[in-house]
Amino acid sequence: MRVLKFGGTSVGHAEAFAQVASIVERTIAEDPQTVVVTSAMSGVTNALIAAARAAAAGDEQKYRDVRTELLVKHQVVAGQLISDGVARAALGRLFEERLVMFERLCQSIAILGELTKRGLDVVSGLGERLSAPLLAAVLRTRNIPAEAVDAGEIIVTDDHFGSANPLMDITRERVRARLLPLIEGGIVPVVTGFVGATQDGIATTLGRGGSDYSAAIIGSCLDADRVEIWTDVDGVFTADPRIVPEARTLPQLSYTEAAELAYFGAKVLHPKTILPAIEKDIPIHVLNTFNPDHPGTRIVRQTDNQGGSVKAITAIKDLTMITVEGRGMIGVPGIAARTFQAVASVGANVLMISQSSSEQNICFVIPKADAPRVLNALHEALSHELERQHIDSIQGQDGIVIVAVVGSAMKGTPGIAAKVFGALGEAGINVIAIAQGASEANISLVAAQGDGDEAVRRIHAAFELDKG
Ligand code: ASP
Ligand code: MG
Repeated sequence: MRVLKFGGTSVGHAEAFAQVASIVERTIAEDPQTVVVTSAMSGVTNALIAAARAAAAGDEQKYRDVRTELLVKHQVVAGQLISDGVARAALGRLFEERLVMFERLCQSIAILGELTKRGLDVVSGLGERLSAPLLAAVLRTRNIPAEAVDAGEIIVTDDHFGSANPLMDITRERVRARLLPLIEGGIVPVVTGFVGATQDGIATTLGRGGSDYSAAIIGSCLDADRVEIWTDVDGVFTADPRIVPEARTLPQLSYTEAAELAYFGAKVLHPKTILPAIEKDIPIHVLNTFNPDHPGTRIVRQTDNQGGSVKAITAIKDLTMITVEGRGMIGVPGIAARTFQAVASVGANVLMISQSSSEQNICFVIPKADAPRVLNALHEALSHELERQHIDSIQGQDGIVIVAVVGSAMKGTPGIAAKVFGALGEAGINVIAIAQGASEANISLVAAQGDGDEAVRRIHAAFELDKG
């Protein structure tokens, strides 16, 4: 059994849909037990979110425009690919229905003047609820029996709106109860990515880019033989090819390496995708919809470690480094704990932590967007220490990048760090802080954002990653 997930650009326009249909056709010829998971058409989730935000700010025109734009966008695809008038009309009614719902939701958001996380999840998940029925209808034009399935029926999550977590036991039951009869009946389920619902049926989403995660969850529930993530590039690269033109596709990655890369900003895979796959040891293939014969990247438990200890370099930008500093911190217990409690209280995600052994400062890196709230929370939580001058300052430095050097076999290979820092030293790039995870699959360093691209290029060249 296979689960195939198609990303937004893979269903971005009519030709892309046709290409997806060919891939599904080819797949079921090899393995008729196939499940499809789809993202919203590219740009749709952004448009939905922008409209809801504008509505909350009192703009009642934007959502009307978006409604029309989305209706046209989906109808153009239906018009080009679905020649059967009855099927097209049914689909048209379905688009109308969902978009009327979108308009009503935005109206109430405008009336309330407030957009809750819960409300945003209902709105932002509508894109998949348009694309899945459309893709199912396109597959049927190729004589592939297909049925759209709303993941709100099968992926049961907690109520952490905006990045909900699946409750795996009940999800497994529901996925199997709903999808297995279809699969056994020769029907290809086309499931909405990204969305789920709480046990009470309230709509949730798994987080931006979460359709990858949906596919892995479903693959795990069905004990699939493989999960395929179909995107618009030839797999996972040694570095972002827009920064390093010589970057090349990695034929294989371990789960750990893929998780590190995804976490540190490689855009091809949602960071949580690996989790359900690891448990069941399901290989994940990252493949290109627009170059389907390319073998892409295979992500498995254990790689044969061809190609050296360093596999890939990635960079994550738009970060702020927070430094909590003071001589009086030495030996005062609990400052670190309270620091990170304050950070957690505003829901900010800490990407990297480092503390000098002199204990005179703690520094950590967070997304720039979270910095003002984090700084406020820290000033409050540590006000006593500031007053007593146990802490001299709490500061945020913007314009920060984390460069992560990833490879499982770095573990136990001496000299990697020396080579990384040698390459940066030669280029005159200043390293602000360093961290290495206990897994030793990753060395990450903090630098000024302006140095980020050059740092990636220099490290890529030092390890000759262009050569394979
Ligand atoms: N459509 C959703 C998003 O843009 C989910 C996805 O594409 O994976 O975040
Ligand atoms: Mg994606």
